[in-house]
Amino acid sequence: MSETRKIVVLAGDGIGPEIVGATRQVLDAVGDFEYTEHLIGGASIDEHGVALTDEVIEACKASDAVLLGAVGGPKWDEAVAKDPTAPRPEQGLLGIRKALGLYANLRPVKPSPALIDASPLKRELIDGTDLLVVRELTGGIYFGDSGRRDEGTVAYDECAYSVAEIERITRAAFEAARQRSDSPRVLSVDKANVLESSRLWRETVKKVAEDYPDVQLDHLLVDFAAMKLVSAPAEIDVLVTENLFGDILSDEAAMLTGSLGMLPSASIGAEGEPGLFEPVHGSAPDIAGQGVANPLATMLSASMMLRYGLGDGEAADRIDNAVDAVLARGLRTPDIYEGGEGETRVGTEEVTEAVLAELGQG
Ligand code: NAD
Repeated sequence: MSETRKIVVLAGDGIGPEIVGATRQVLDAVGDFEYTEHLIGGASIDEHGVALTDEVIEACKASDAVLLGAVGGPKWDEAVAKDPTAPRPEQGLLGIRKALGLYANLRPVKPSPALIDASPLKRELIDGTDLLVVRELTGGIYFGDSGRRDEGTVAYDECAYSVAEIERITRAAFEAARQRSDSPRVLSVDKANVLESSRLWRETVKKVAEDYPDVQLDHLLVDFAAMKLVSAPAEIDVLVTENLFGDILSDEAAMLTGSLGMLPSASIGAEGEPGLFEPVHGSAPDIAGQGVANPLATMLSASMMLRYGLGDGEAADRIDNAVDAVLARGLRTPDIYEGGEGETRVGTEEVTEAVLAELGQG
């Protein structure tokens, strides 16, 4: 890349600083970046009394992309247990997602060939899986009218979607499909046989698809999609769906790899606005400070930052290939170490050095 990109780094709590520090070294091996570090979550509560300050929001908005570690830990959970009005680390996460207007969550599921046996699925089912779940984040049942009626004996939650909301998430999915493959495919998941919001979803997705004649579009009902994810995941390329279905299906898809420390994610906002890139796992306070955290999910999140946030698929491929090569050599942090033949148990620093060596920086 020719120009310097401005990255805001929010390391957060627990293992956050360790995995983000390792990832910065990897980013420096593939490009030219200017970083500014800010506090979020528990670290920000300790310093400022809130999990996210306006200053951090402004810095994120002015950046090209935001790289986040993880937030939270027992210290702040205990404070909340004593006083339910105490600030919570996850308010930082929710706050920054909202402030950046992030409406699409992207989670790839591509088990590294070297880790296929960590999957709960049989090798022949998981082999060849390389899919992306695109979940709508701002609409649907989580944000509709809700309440109780009939003296509290009936509860309701409204699921509403506008054409504009469906259009932009659909475009995000089609664009992502094009970035991933020369023969892109999108699977739209809904419940159009029952829900009106799903019928509007399907109509709108079909209309948007007219602008993407090169992308193959299929539709599937959410119950069938849930089965397909575990029976034939290798047949899925990009799966796009609304908020509630996406919440459930993205966690189901995540389990296909069997390795929490390996899963990256990206949240994308409006065109030209910065996205947020973070591992799926939490702050792992049980292993913080021990030098054994697996930094690979964060490195793969940085790869997503390059691919989907900064438009540099080539540098993203270099990171992905370096991670695969390190795993193929048998290097394993304790969370993915199974004691098999050819495996070597290593810490954060050694695995990071190995990735750097693959990138020619050893
Ligand atoms: P967790 O993901 O932090 O940890 C679950 C288990 O996986 C732990 O045994 C941990 O050691 C292990 N693990 C997770 N990431 C790892 C890595 N990179 N390398 C090696 N091992 C790893 O989930 P949890 O224990 O339920 O939550 C811990 C804290 O993290 C809580 O405060 C929770 O609120 C917070 N959390 C934050 C996020 C986020 O910031 N996005 C997400 C989930 C949980």
